[in-house]
Amino acid sequence: MSVMTPPGIKNSGDYIEGVLATVKAKNLAESEFHQAVQEVLDSLRLVLQKHPEYRSARILERITEPERVLMFRVPWFDDRGDVQVNRGFRIEMNSAIGPYKGGLRFHPSVNLGILKFLAFEQVFKNSLTTLPMGGGKGGSDFDPKGKSDNEVMRFCQSFMTELQRHIGPDTDVPAGDIGVGGREIGFLFGQYKRLRNEFTGVLTGKGLNWGGSLIRPEATGYGCVYFANEMLKTRKETFDGKLCLVSGSGNVSQYTVEKLLDFGAKPITWSDSDGVIFDPDGIDREKLAWVMELKNVRRGRIREYTDKYKKAVFMPTDVKLDHNPIWNIKADCAFPSATQNEIKAKDAANLLKNGCKLVAEGANMPCTLEATKMFLDAKTLYGPAKAANAGGVATSGLEMAQNSARLSWTREEVDDRLHKIMIAIHKTCFETAEKYGTPGNLVNGANIGGFMKVANAMLDQGLV
Ligand code: NDP
Repeated sequence: MSVMTPPGIKNSGDYIEGVLATVKAKNLAESEFHQAVQEVLDSLRLVLQKHPEYRSARILERITEPERVLMFRVPWFDDRGDVQVNRGFRIEMNSAIGPYKGGLRFHPSVNLGILKFLAFEQVFKNSLTTLPMGGGKGGSDFDPKGKSDNEVMRFCQSFMTELQRHIGPDTDVPAGDIGVGGREIGFLFGQYKRLRNEFTGVLTGKGLNWGGSLIRPEATGYGCVYFANEMLKTRKETFDGKLCLVSGSGNVSQYTVEKLLDFGAKPITWSDSDGVIFDPDGIDREKLAWVMELKNVRRGRIREYTDKYKKAVFMPTDVKLDHNPIWNIKADCAFPSATQNEIKAKDAANLLKNGCKLVAEGANMPCTLEATKMFLDAKTLYGPAKAANAGGVATSGLEMAQNSARLSWTREEVDDRLHKIMIAIHKTCFETAEKYGTPGNLVNGANIGGFMKVANAMLDQGLV
């Protein structure tokens, strides 16, 4: 199918509608990818009026088309000796400013559309970090829940047996995401090393004894709170005593809660795909340590929290409903940190009704387009994912730098760099939003700020 803009389309608005229509037609039934592209293109209307060169070089048509899509069979034996077959993916989206970089997600919901949305977002996010990283994403519909360590290892080894021929420290450097933490990165790295006979920084999120960086596990959650703190500063406010809703109970959620406690806030919720925990007394460091043990070691369910902490309540969730009870709890700030589209229009209405003043996206694209618009219209402090959760990949970039130099930086040094990067990302988004006539709209600021660097690199490098 042609990627040309439909005939008769003249102004930049029509042009953008044409590109979006083509993306939808070429990527049928990939609704999350359509959503992510639409959000970015809506912001770029403001840019195309000033920069006709992007249009004549067909930058939008090129940036929405992955450079390469890999899809492969992953066969493995379960503990009973039965054969299981999953599907593996890697989307190499854009390498204009550096090697492809982005996580691997293992979750039964994984499909091409979800990974394309994540890879597309990653391109702009990585650009915002100021580090030289292109964008990619990958994963599998494999579900690590309920699998033994040996099953997870056999799956990871089979997955890497194919993936290894496509990645490398100067080509494509995967990391973790949902369902891929330290255990999985270890198994994947071990198999890469065995097959390629080389010890390189081909993955980030590695263990500390074998090339990992201090603060990488903490980085996405810490970074999100650092970003939110910058948003609060623009209104001369602090986190002190603020009630915070945090969804999820995995990597991003745990370290968001930890940093919120450092800043004097009061986090009061957790969730997982079964339901929500509301702890009116607040989550303290002892409760956080208990959840880390529950989720990272025992791999249990969040409902067990109420067995231990009797004042907390558990509310089951149902994905078929148009809302989630977590977003109807009265609070000052919301940190969606579980998965995409977890805040729908009704959730946004509930948050606003209850006086929520700040939303910082730890998860990728956790708000639907309608919910995002409602927050922007209400002038909520709204930190979009590609800016607010960029601390994870930024620290992956710092891990790559340490690997290349064969050095390890201290915890304080990495945390200080992470903090400065998050301040710089906020500054870019804030100033870009103002420059393009939409002050306070960090969605426009992040989309335009991330886009310009990649688009200019693409212009410099010719038609590739
Ligand atoms: P984890 O696997 O550590 O935790 C994910 C959490 O979200 C779990 O509590 C999980 O519950 C819940 N969850 C996942 N899918 C769903 C679903 N469909 N419905 C309800 N709850 C769900 O992943 P991370 O914490 O690493 O990732 C969370 C989000 O942050 C994702 O959007 C990811 O892309 C994003 N992100 C992560 C980064 C990182 O460095 N790890 C970097 C940037 C963004 P359950 O156990 O029931 O599945």
